[in-house]
Amino acid sequence: TSFAESKLPENVLDCCKTFQKPSPIQSHSWPFLLDGRDLIGIAKTGSGKTLAFGIPAIMHMLKKNKSGKGTRNPACLVLSPTRELAVQISDVLSEAGEPCGLKSICVYGGSSKRPQINAIRSGVDIVIGTPGRLRDLIESNELRLSDVSFVVLDEADRMLDMGFEEPVRFILSKTNKVRQMVMFSATWPIDVHKLAQEFMDPNPVKI
Ligand code: AMP
Repeated sequence: TSFAESKLPENVLDCCKTFQKPSPIQSHSWPFLLDGRDLIGIAKTGSGKTLAFGIPAIMHMLKKNKSGKGTRNPACLVLSPTRELAVQISDVLSEAGEPCGLKSICVYGGSSKRPQINAIRSGVDIVIGTPGRLRDLIESNELRLSDVSFVVLDEADRMLDMGFEEPVRFILSKTNKVRQMVMFSATWPIDVHKLAQEFMDPNPVKI
């Protein structure tokens, strides 16, 4: 499959112009995610998974006309186990979202809250973050997730291994009840399975 076959708008595909064709995980995920389905992807870093969920996330917001509103309430949330991965995802989504007028910000622990709070206050469409800091910002009323209708859990197995189950559940419970959800995991242990059963559509697509 080619990028042309995806029929995605040119500004959305801007970030892919140096690539020859969609990676396998992208060409498999896009049709389902663009159709609004929940999806579980068993994939590792390096497979192109960031744009596998990133491009549908952008399309979701463009369809909902969420761009350029400059509100403090994001419409898309990406959860990452580590700061390094969060920053990496944020770099990709900032580049991909910019031509579409979408602003991404990244929040994580171990660094000052103030710049992150200022970034939220200046308006945000997509928020990428680690569970502890996200919970903190929600509890201090800086971040509201009630408009979040597209949620991604990246490296879900690692997130639970690192002891983030409780903040992850707390954060998910604050998102909109009507939401599309994507979960990527390298493995499929029982605790990840349970989380999916609890928060996702009863029949998610599995890739
Ligand atoms: P990820 O798995 O999202 O961390 O992506 C791994 C690497 O693959 C990154 O350096 C991306 O820039 C690159 N990449 C993403 N999509 C494609 C594609 N369709 N073709 C070639 N490289 C890609």
